Amino acid sequence: NSVFEHVVRAPEDPILGVTVAYNKDTSPLKLNLGVGAYRTEEGKPLVLNVVRRAEQMLVNNSSRVKEYLPIVGLADFNKLSAKLILGADSPAIQENRVTTVQCLSGTGSLRVGGEFLARHYHQRTIYIPQPTWGNHPKVFTLAGLSVKTFRYYDPVTRGLDFQGLLEDLGSAPSGEIVLLHACAHNPTGVDPTPQQWEQIRQLMRSKALLPFFDSAYQGFASGNLDADAHSVRLFVADGGECLVAQSYAKNMGLYGERVGALSIVCKSADVASRVESQLKLVIRPMYSNPPIHGASIVATILKDRNMYQEWTIELKAMADRIINMRQQLFDALRSRGTPGDWSHIIKQIGMFTFTGLNSEQVAFMRKEYHIYMTSDGRISMAGLSSRTVPHLADAIHAAVT
Ligand code: PMP
Repeated sequence: NSVFEHVVRAPEDPILGVTVAYNKDTSPLKLNLGVGAYRTEEGKPLVLNVVRRAEQMLVNNSSRVKEYLPIVGLADFNKLSAKLILGADSPAIQENRVTTVQCLSGTGSLRVGGEFLARHYHQRTIYIPQPTWGNHPKVFTLAGLSVKTFRYYDPVTRGLDFQGLLEDLGSAPSGEIVLLHACAHNPTGVDPTPQQWEQIRQLMRSKALLPFFDSAYQGFASGNLDADAHSVRLFVADGGECLVAQSYAKNMGLYGERVGALSIVCKSADVASRVESQLKLVIRPMYSNPPIHGASIVATILKDRNMYQEWTIELKAMADRIINMRQQLFDALRSRGTPGDWSHIIKQIGMFTFTGLNSEQVAFMRKEYHIYMTSDGRISMAGLSSRTVPHLADAIHAAVT
C-alpha cells in the first residue's frame, strides 16, 4: 500500500480544466474559448516578431552567461517595468519611492505582494471584486490574507454595478486592501470610466484603503499602453501609496516565460528601500530568485527605441483583432435575429466577453457544438477568428432559443 493511499483526487482547475476537456474532444469542429491566450486569425499561438528578434540578439551575445539573478531579479527589467506602468515622467520614480521586484509573471507578483502585506501591513483583509479572476481568492488566502468581496458586476445591465461598488468600499473598515484590475477586468470585460475611477480614488483615499492593482493586460485592452495604465497613474499621481502586479504574459505573449513585476509605490525613498529589503525575505525561501530569460527579452525590447516601437505596433494589432472579433460576433448574432441585447459584446473591454450565458447553456454548447468556455459563460475573444465566428453564433443562437 502506498503511503499516499489516502490522497483524494482534486478537481481540475476551473479555467485550465476547460483545455483538458477540449484536448479530449475528437470533433473537427471543436473550439477552445476557455483559456486566456491570444491566437492568430489562423487559430495559432503567436510569438511576436520583436520577441524573436530580442531572443536572437540574446543568443548571439556570447558574453551572456546563465548565472543566478539577484533575489529581486534583473535591475534593468525592474526599472523599465516601473516606467512602463507608471509613466516615463512619473514623479514617484524620480523621487526613488518605488521599489520593483521581478516575479513569476502576474500570479507570482500577486503572491509576493500578498505575503508582504500579510507580514507587514496593519490590516489583513483584501477586498476583491465580485466576480474576479478565479485564482485571486486562492492566491491571497494562501498568502495569509483574508478575502472579502465588493460588488462589481451587474448581471442585469451586464455592466458595472457602480453604486454597489461605492457602497461596499464605503462600508469597508478604513485601511483595508482593495484589489483592482488596472484595465480589462477578467472575467467581465467591464471597466470603470475615467470619471468613475476618479470617484473610486477619492473614496479610497478618504478611507485610507490601500490599492493593489493587478495589471495583466496593459496595452492589450485598447492597444495603447498609456491609456491602459490610466487607473494606476491616477492613484500614483495623488502622492499616495499602492501596489502593482504586472504581467508580460499577454502584452508580450510571454505566457510560459513567467515574467512579471511587483512594484510598491511608497511615501519616501527610505521606506521604499526598507520595503524592498523585506520583499527579499519573502522571495528567498519561496524560489530564491527569478528566471533570467524572459526578463532579458523584456528589458532588451523596452530599452531600445526601435524595438519598443515595433512592440507597440504588434501589440496594437493583437488588440485590434480582438476588438474586430467583438464586432463580428455581435453582427453575426444580429443577422441571425438571436433574441436578447448583445451590445455588451462590443462594449466590454479586453480579452474576454462575459456573455451572460448560464452554466446549462454553456454545457449545451459544449455537448452539441464542441465549443469550450468556463462555466460562468466567459469566452476568450482572442481564441476566435473570422472562420469560427459563425459556428459560435449558431451555437449561442441555439442555446438561447
Ligand atoms: N490577473 C489576471 C486578472 C489575469 O487574467 C491573469 C491571467 N489569466 C493573471 C493575473 C496572471 O497571469 P500570469 O501569471 O500568467 O501573468
